[in-house]
This record gives sequence, C-alpha cells and structure tokens, in this order.
Amino acid sequence: MLETSKELFERAKQSIPGGVNSPARAFNSVGGSPVFMEKAEGSILTDVDGKEYIDYVGSWGPMILGHAYEPVIEAVQETAAKSTSFGAPTELEVKMAELVKRMVPGVDKIRMVNSGTEACMSAIRVARGYTGRDKVIKFQGNYHGHGDSFLINAGSGALTLGTPSSPGVTEGTANDTLTADYNDLNSVKQLLNEFEDEVAAIIVEPVAGNMGCIPPQKGFLSGLRELCNGHDVVLIFDEVMTGFRVAQGGAQQRYGVTADLVTYGKIIGAGLPVGAFGGKEEIMQVVSPDGPVYQAGTLSGNPLAMIAGYTLLSELHENPVHYDELEEKTTYLYTGLSEVFTDYDVPVHLNRVGSMLGFFFTEEEVVNFETANTTDQELFKAFFHAMLKNGIYLPPSPFESLFLANSLTKEMLDQTLDAAGASIEQAL
Ligand code: PLP
Repeated sequence: MLETSKELFERAKQSIPGGVNSPARAFNSVGGSPVFMEKAEGSILTDVDGKEYIDYVGSWGPMILGHAYEPVIEAVQETAAKSTSFGAPTELEVKMAELVKRMVPGVDKIRMVNSGTEACMSAIRVARGYTGRDKVIKFQGNYHGHGDSFLINAGSGALTLGTPSSPGVTEGTANDTLTADYNDLNSVKQLLNEFEDEVAAIIVEPVAGNMGCIPPQKGFLSGLRELCNGHDVVLIFDEVMTGFRVAQGGAQQRYGVTADLVTYGKIIGAGLPVGAFGGKEEIMQVVSPDGPVYQAGTLSGNPLAMIAGYTLLSELHENPVHYDELEEKTTYLYTGLSEVFTDYDVPVHLNRVGSMLGFFFTEEEVVNFETANTTDQELFKAFFHAMLKNGIYLPPSPFESLFLANSLTKEMLDQTLDAAGASIEQAL
C-alpha cells in the first residue's frame, strides 16, 4: 500500500522543491509520505495504488459539489475546443461578473485574477491606493496567500511591529503589516489608535479556516465594520474559503456584515486557477484602466477558468438547496464525531460553520491562534494516519478546516464515523 506514492515522492523530490508544488501537500505537519492521486469522482479519491478514500479536503475548498462534477467537465471540454485563451475580452467574463454580483452582497465591480493570493495582494494595493495610507492590519493565524505583506509574524503583543516570517520579505514590508488577535476587537482598537491615519485596510478571514475552523464570535465582524467606518479604513473580507461556501453570498450574507472589498478563490474557479477581488464602486474605480492602481494578468478571466467557475456558481445559485443539504450533512458529521471522541474520553473542541468543520484535541474553547495551538498535535498526527489507512482523507494538518462536499452520502458519513472510532482507538 502507498508504494507507488512513496516512489513518486522520492522521484518528485529530485526535481521539485520538497517534492510538491505547494508546501502543505508534503505532509510536513503530519509526517510520512503524501498520497499521490490518480483520479476522483464525487467524494471518492483514488490514489496511484488504486486505494480509495472518502475526501474531506475537496482540493482545499473548491469541490463543493464533488470532484469531476459532470456539468463543469462538459462545459470545460466544450470551451477548450474553441481556444484556451484569447487575451481579449469575452462574453463569459461579463456573465461571470454579473453572476457574482447577483450572488453576493456589496460587490459593484469585480476583477478576475488567477489565485487567492493574487486577489488578496491586489485588494490591499487597491485599499492603499484608495486611502493613500500604507499599513494593513491582519490577524494572527489568518492566511491570505503568499504575498509579501501577509508573511509576517506578530511580535510579542499586538502593538509590536511584525517581522518577516519568510526570508525574502523585507523589513520595510513587515513594518507595514500590523497583527491583531482574532476575535479580539480591543487588539484592533489599540492598533488603530496607535497608528491613527496610517492604516489603509483591515483584512480578515470572516470565518478562520487556516488555524482549523474558527468562527467569528458574536459582534466581531460587525465590530470590525464599525471600527473601519470610524477610522476611514477599508474593510476586506478574505472570502477565498468562505465565499460561495458558508452561504451563497458567503460570510457577508451569513453574518449580515458587508465589507468594502472582498476576495475570492477556490469555489469561484471550480478547481481551475481563479481568484477575484471586488467591492464598492467608489473603491474599485481606482483600479486600472479606470484608475491609477495597476493590476493585470495575461490569463486572467481565461475561458476555461471562467466556464468552470460560472457553471458551478450557476448551479449553486439556481439550487440553493445544496446549502441546506450541506448544513445537514456537516451537522451529522459534527454530532457523530463529538460522540465518537466523547466515547473514547478524548478532550475535543469542534467548530462548524456551514460545510466547514474543525476539531481540536483540547479542553479549551478554540477562538483564536493561541487556543488553537493548545490542540494535541501528536494525537492529531496519529489520528490522521489511522484515518488515512482506514480510507478517510483529512487535511494533513491540525490547523486546516475540513471542507464537505454535497456528493457525500449518508453511507460515506457513517463509514467515516466508524473509521473515526477505529482510528482514535488506534491513535490513543
Ligand atoms: N486566503 C485564504 C483565506 C486562503 O485560505 C488561501 C489559500 O488557502 C488564500 C487566500 C490563497 O489562495 P491561493 O492558494 O489560491 O493563492
């Protein structure tokens, strides 16, 4: 078992840094060799050795209706035959922008890019161009892609300036990124007071998904909205994970808070490389060629990516029952997992928002980076590998959210719960 994956990983390491094209895929948080995939359909992944897994990663988010979703595959094939890219405008881009505007609140204009990283990088450039200010507030444990401004460690205490957390990021960039604590409005207020008239934007994952799944506490998002209004700061919701997932209109709709700018990725491309940023007309008008803030892309809005995303979003828009079904399935898994862990006397804290789910092996209520870090990482590793062996593919890190797809069946969920019981017994 996993023999071909192991061989491929050894080969990959000779030619690709760490053997992977994105670090989390290398299983460095959980150890061992990553599984190389061959194909997938619905919620079943098949690896290169022919072993099948029930999938809770969903390509880290995009596959909300499962893999190889037929309407998307057909539309992509048909579109590819007409050319994979024109580098000239197409009607499809117009339809896509119009559809997103219908689905989500607060978006007057939207620009397509090729990844969530690009979307977030561009959004803060727009916020800076619009406000004429340099600094950005982000939250400890939130991830906004690998743009320089986001690879910053908070210093000790929210008021300390950050330091680069990756070689290659300059001190100057780090100085412009301030870090606050998630779910803690006071830490934000302190920064806004300390750096009055210097902060261009606050960027936040409205439901944190990159330190496990951590929901915003009551009043957190609306509090950010008020603080931004009071200090003339642009509020950016990074909805790369939550967009079109926690509700059709994303976290903005689910929590009734409208941001000034929003970023998208993942579901918007249905598994093809797409990101987008959009928002209020007044702010978006600074984007080139309307305004002076430069932003561009050779393959942005290319027909394959657009038709994939447009087809998936149309289905979600026309059949919102998908969201009800996803809520039901995720609640079923949430309740079942709680019972399994309780049966084995494992301290656990579970969080769920829509079809995002996280579990932490801790007694603490997990509300931020600090409490997320109380999870028993060794137990997670053992549980992860036992689940993998038992045919369940979880995110290979204790600090990633599970993403459920509507292709999951009751049988698959029951199989997962049985595997969870067997796996926790093996892990303990
Ligand atoms: N923002 C959030 C909230 C994300 O979860 C991610 C990726 O996981 C990104 C931005 C970056 O997106 P991408 O990996 O498409 O560059």
